[in-house]
Amino acid sequence: MRYSALSVLWQGLTGHKGWTRQWRDPEPKKEYDVIIIGGGGHGLSTAYYLAKLHGITNVAVLEKGWIGGGNVGRNTTIVRSNYMLGPNTHFYEKSMKLWEGLEQDFNFNAMVSQRGVINLFHSDPQRDAFARRGNAMRMAGIDAELLTPAQLKKMVPILDFENARFPIQGGLIQRRGGTVRHDAVAWGYARGADSRGVDIIQNCEVKNILRSGGRVTGVETSRGTIKAKKVAMCVAGHTSQVAAMAGIKLPIESHVLQAFVSEGIKPLIDTVVTFGAGHFYISQSDKGGLVYGGDLDGYNSYAQRGNLPMMEHVMAGGMAVMPAIGRVRMLRHWGGIMDMSFDGSPFICKTDTKGLYLNGGWCYGGFKAAPASGWCYAHTIANDAPHPLNEAFTVDRFKKGRMLDEKGVGPNPWIQ
Ligand SMILES: Cc1cc2nc3c(=O)[nH]c(=O)nc-3n(C[C@H](O)[C@H](O)[C@H](O)COP(=O)(O)OP(=O)(O)OC[C@H]3O[C@@H](n4cnc5c(N)ncnc54)[C@H](O)[C@@H]3O)c2cc1C
Repeated sequence: MRYSALSVLWQGLTGHKGWTRQWRDPEPKKEYDVIIIGGGGHGLSTAYYLAKLHGITNVAVLEKGWIGGGNVGRNTTIVRSNYMLGPNTHFYEKSMKLWEGLEQDFNFNAMVSQRGVINLFHSDPQRDAFARRGNAMRMAGIDAELLTPAQLKKMVPILDFENARFPIQGGLIQRRGGTVRHDAVAWGYARGADSRGVDIIQNCEVKNILRSGGRVTGVETSRGTIKAKKVAMCVAGHTSQVAAMAGIKLPIESHVLQAFVSEGIKPLIDTVVTFGAGHFYISQSDKGGLVYGGDLDGYNSYAQRGNLPMMEHVMAGGMAVMPAIGRVRMLRHWGGIMDMSFDGSPFICKTDTKGLYLNGGWCYGGFKAAPASGWCYAHTIANDAPHPLNEAFTVDRFKKGRMLDEKGVGPNPWIQ
């Protein structure tokens, strides 16, 4: 079913009886050409691009819970491409470009809102680091501007410019950045993949990855054994656990990241503001809730829930930079499991087992990557070789000393 203004009008006039299901609920087949483990943003976008761009449709996405129940439906919805290192810059900009045409492409309203993303700075060295990042972005053809406090004051009047613990000296803005309705992305990709023949199988947990003679042969699941020529891991916070099923040990640790939403209030902030110095970032949803978050919980965990110390830490960060929000009541909070790689950059690559592919290490920034990740992963699976956009995202970069550390700690002479 195609969505359009006309179809909304027609359904409105005929009692909304003609809307159809977004995707089927098929029984798993005995064998597929490609099995994708994990029905999050990355797994579903991979299935979509495999079917759409590579004509590979005998594909199953196996999800142990429900579509959108993982991080893709738990994040704070921010999209941006304000990176500094070449491989990250180009990859995230590819994602940004895909976001810009996504709703037309998969004919689904994902509420893509390019309302701008501002990173505040509070000292001369921090300003220099942001100016350097902005210059790197502009050299790669990506929009970036340094804002003065006067410009910022006009854009975000609720910031505390008078008496802040960390006085605000300015900000780096990417105006094309913004927010996207997170779970609609999963639904849009699921619908697009399903309509091209992909089986999306929910409540199907992968328990083991089957291999023989150095190549993958299928998976064992809670709904039986399913054979496959190719198996693609795409399980975000569970990456190290699922990779261990194939005997792979990864430089990934899992941590909880929490998000918070306030009661709905009148429009207060029409952009995204990040306050890195105090671990706080904020935007406002279309329903009026302030959506904010902060730092990771500092210990390893697979618990998808938050805790009180981090709540206090994030609130304190918010109060330090915009004290007005102290009068707003918090409505709810939750946690998601982050697959933290040791240099903060992802993996989209082949493994040593033939036909087995790895996608993970998204840390706390993988939502914005979902389109480009699926696009590159689909290319890698279809061609059994990486696309130039993801060829740096291998596991052996740690062995070779070619880490992609955005913080720029230590010498990285090979980086352009
Ligand atoms: C609070 C919070 C805020 C965030 N904010 C942002 C943000 O603003 N911007 C941004 O870019 N990123 C953000 N992120 C990060 C982003 O959400 C993730 O990096 C990204 O969603 C991960 O990819 P995914 O969507 O495929 O993951 P998921 O949606 O978690 O998908 C993985 C799926 O694999 C399934 N799975 C796991 N094990 C198995 C198994 N054995 N068998 C079958 N299925 C399995 C899981 O159930 C899950 O559905 C945030 C994350 C959180 C938690």
